[in-house]
Amino acid sequence: MWSHEISRGRDTGKGDSEMNLIPRWSIVLSLAVFAFWQYIFHYVMPHPRHDLLPMRLLMGYSWGMAIASYVLLIGYISRDVKRRNMSAGLWMLIVLVIPGFIGAIVYFMLREPMLSKCPSCSTEVASSFHFCPECQFQMAPVCGQCYRGVQITDVYCVNCGHELAKDASPARLRTFSD
Ligand SMILES: [Zn+2]
Ligand SMILES: [Zn+2]
Repeated sequence: MWSHEISRGRDTGKGDSEMNLIPRWSIVLSLAVFAFWQYIFHYVMPHPRHDLLPMRLLMGYSWGMAIASYVLLIGYISRDVKRRNMSAGLWMLIVLVIPGFIGAIVYFMLREPMLSKCPSCSTEVASSFHFCPECQFQMAPVCGQCYRGVQITDVYCVNCGHELAKDASPARLRTFSD
């Protein structure tokens, strides 16, 4: 029963799939940018006379894809910052000002853990929390002796060696609310 609770919690925690995080404006914009780039590359930019057509098509395609995916990435980050309670304006600026995906790499290295809602009191909590800071609701399985986090499949606590099977199953996922 408690394992069911966990899988449900995990679903609600990451409820919207990662693909849904890409806003429609950035999908439309990336398609437009890709098409515009094809036009610029093939019709506006000068090409050497003996330029090979397959090479030229490949170059146009790969550069276009790189630019289009950059636009998608910016769209993704613009939504991802919000669910991590980070400054959207600051991070959009960093990703735009530092070009060539470096700003985005910095973002993925420094981003805060995702926030989820406590099932009991709806407080926003980081996914690393074991207990809700507001209502003590248990968010993750813990050892019945040292109360450090354990895996639901562990037999012994990795911190204190306590035999987890000795805890009643709910103790592994002790709910303080009842
Ligand atoms: Zn709570
Ligand atoms: Zn322990």
